[in-house]
Amino acid sequence: MAHWLSKSSYLRGWQCPKALWMWKHRPDLRRPPSPQQLAIFEQGTQVGLLAQQLFPGGVDCSPRHHHAQEPALAATQEAVQRGVPAIYEATFMHEGVLAAVDILARDGDGWTLVEVKSSTSAKDQFLEDCALQYHVVQGAGTNVTGVRLLLIDNHYVRQGELEVDRLLTALDVTDEVLARQPAVRDRIASLKGTLNDAMPDVPIGPQCESPYPCEFKPTCWKEVPARSVFLLSHIGKKAFELHHSGIRELKDVPEEAGLSPAQRLQVSVERSGRPHVEAGPIRDFVAGLRYPLHHLDFETFALAVPPFDGVRPYQAIPFQFSLHVEDGPGKAPGHLSFLAEAGGDPREEFSNTLLRSIRPEGDILVYNRSFEARIIKELARDLPHHASALRGLLPRLKDLALPFARHWYLDPAMNGRHSIKSVLPVLVPELRYTDLEIGSGDLASLSFAQLMAGRYTGDIQQLRNALEAYCTLDTLAMVRVLRVLRDI
Ligand code: SF4
Repeated sequence: MAHWLSKSSYLRGWQCPKALWMWKHRPDLRRPPSPQQLAIFEQGTQVGLLAQQLFPGGVDCSPRHHHAQEPALAATQEAVQRGVPAIYEATFMHEGVLAAVDILARDGDGWTLVEVKSSTSAKDQFLEDCALQYHVVQGAGTNVTGVRLLLIDNHYVRQGELEVDRLLTALDVTDEVLARQPAVRDRIASLKGTLNDAMPDVPIGPQCESPYPCEFKPTCWKEVPARSVFLLSHIGKKAFELHHSGIRELKDVPEEAGLSPAQRLQVSVERSGRPHVEAGPIRDFVAGLRYPLHHLDFETFALAVPPFDGVRPYQAIPFQFSLHVEDGPGKAPGHLSFLAEAGGDPREEFSNTLLRSIRPEGDILVYNRSFEARIIKELARDLPHHASALRGLLPRLKDLALPFARHWYLDPAMNGRHSIKSVLPVLVPELRYTDLEIGSGDLASLSFAQLMAGRYTGDIQQLRNALEAYCTLDTLAMVRVLRVLRDI
């Protein structure tokens, strides 16, 4: 049976021919997209619609249904003949390859092909995407005179009405696209051959995660043992070399494998099955904490299109914090929290409540200092009337991740990671994120962003309770982890 390629199936095959084959022949093995991935797609669609405002008077040729391309092809041809100023979702077919162009803009006797991405930089996969579109549109007989990528400009700061022409910035990629044409032609032929053949034998590799996480990982990665070399921290592509050379278990990685001192320590801990604990630096760390001790955690959301004045694209906007305060070592902590109401800019109320809640003395313990410090600095920049008080918090920040990041406490069950999600189950197994309705910062952020946009379809009070429970556990986890360190 002859197969046709779409733009997305071509790009899937460009990443991995086996993924393309399974997509067509074994769709049942595909892992469904995560809520986070769906939110990224949704954000891309929104940015695409905004970009159309920069090309007024255009005709929308989007297909009504994914499988009903014929009307979209006919509508596009009719719009091209009519000489409209722009076509949105212009759809073309050439030699069995179907491609829809975000915007085709009239340029004298020809057309400029415009691809819109909700990203701030031109990535290799975007250029390949544009190159395929050029091949199809030009091959179908429409004269393309230029190719542009429309990207998010992260220097833009919203003030008042959204200025789409400043939010999006155009990059001329015509030369790169032309240079890729011979390779695109060869790849199309090769991928069509792949589809008509047996499943290609492609070993697992960096392509399983890059540029996009592959939907077929659960199938291909079955051969990877539970305690594999991929658990080695900061191992990168070298894990594939070890795996393909037959060294698959973490405990089997030899001394001569060229590991860093931290990786060698991880292997030795894996072999012994016991934690590595350096009591001296842990005791110094614990003894250096000043009370009252504030255990603090922020939750933020970030959108491509800045929702408020004074916000940049993808700026992290804090909407929630949890704070446990210990008056002295081992004393029962008090708890305070803040969760913004959806609808307005939460930063003023967030800052006010935070500054009222933190006492004038004592350290502020966070988990991964760089994140909370960045948010506080951005709040100080954007709210000058709070700047001095907010900056005053920075020297008081201490990082509870440090004993784990520096490997003063390393347990095999932490799997080479030092996030609170990896540390907590080992040190305080009775506290579990998996028991919560919202169990990750990504999901908290996504859910609140949906609430802000009025797109949350569930029970709002239930969501707010789940967000409170999640953020509270983050700081309670810190209290309990510190208690374990204190007992060493
Ligand atoms: S998991 Fe990796 S090897 Fe398997 S199809 Fe996906 S990219 Fe290819």
